[in-house]
Amino acid sequence: MRAIRVHQFGGPEVLKLESVPEPKPGPGEVLLRVHAAGLNPVDTYIRGGGYAIKPALPYTPGLDAAGVIEALGAGVSNWRVGDRVYTAAAAGSYAELALCKASDVYRLPERVSYEQGAAVGIAYMTAYRALFQRAAAQPSEIVLVHGASGGVGIATVQLARAAGLTVIGTAGSAEGLALVKAEGAHHALDHRAANFGDQLAAVAGNRGVDVIVEMLANVNLGKDLAWLAPRGRVVVVGSRGPVEINPRDLMSRDASIAGMILFGTPPADMAKIAAALDAGLENGTLRPVVGERFPLPEAAKAQERVMAPGAHGKIVLVP
Ligand code: NAP
Repeated sequence: MRAIRVHQFGGPEVLKLESVPEPKPGPGEVLLRVHAAGLNPVDTYIRGGGYAIKPALPYTPGLDAAGVIEALGAGVSNWRVGDRVYTAAAAGSYAELALCKASDVYRLPERVSYEQGAAVGIAYMTAYRALFQRAAAQPSEIVLVHGASGGVGIATVQLARAAGLTVIGTAGSAEGLALVKAEGAHHALDHRAANFGDQLAAVAGNRGVDVIVEMLANVNLGKDLAWLAPRGRVVVVGSRGPVEINPRDLMSRDASIAGMILFGTPPADMAKIAAALDAGLENGTLRPVVGERFPLPEAAKAQERVMAPGAHGKIVLVP
């Protein structure tokens, strides 16, 4: 089968298309015929070699995928060959076939395409965990989705809107702003605008926002704290460096900052996330948005794109 292989950590040029033997599922595993693989910023951090997860070389990148179960390993009884599924934990989804633990695979409802399915895993699981399990967001609260135009952001907007929050989403391009609005934000603001704080106050009111889901904390966290309402919560989803904050902004509001790492989610919480996403995908409140698609050989181009500004939904690879 064809797969993207990495033989040394480095830039996008280390992603090579190769022909490799077809994997065989071991006990407790399924083999997935990949119809689409989802790209995430973490794929690029891992490829660079400086991330907490450092796979043994050579490896096939990619965690998110959607497709059809091709074969079952010993002891797997909850899936059948031919089932449509998605995962956020493939052992290399930039390939025609990928192994996954049977427990890491979820049903893909008929109304959701494979490309959309590849956009579900990490983005929607992260969004749900940030919003409801880390921030305990409640209906009628105001949420600022700071970085709403990408994978996690669009998912957060859809989940928050469906749960009855007032949603303010940000983007850095005209296309991103239009998408954030179309996917359910009551207000869409440009996070690069010089007067962003004034624009936020105009739509959120003097009380501030109850919840901030933050995609770029190293740039925004210091300012976020001053925009919080009493007992406000910031969840740090993304950060690419250090940042200075004034703790008094927290003290004066009885406010808090929570971090999160999806890979550390306890299994019981993950089961709740999977059930909630299943319902939302089934009833159409969750509609994954694919902004760009690339053929498998163009994995390097796709990874460059995922780190470039101007996000408008997820980027997928199609084998
Ligand atoms: P993505 O699809 O590439 O989207 C990135 C988002 O950040 C876009 O909406 C982008 O907007 C926005 N952004 C850029 N500059 C910004 C700024 N100054 N202020 C606010 N937002 C800004 O990435 P993603 O998959 O949504 O992931 C978002 C971040 O969360 C990444 O850093 C990722 O590594 C991290 N993440 C963490 C976890 C976890 O477990 N903690 C899980 C998933 C993702 P424009 O392009 O429109 O400017």
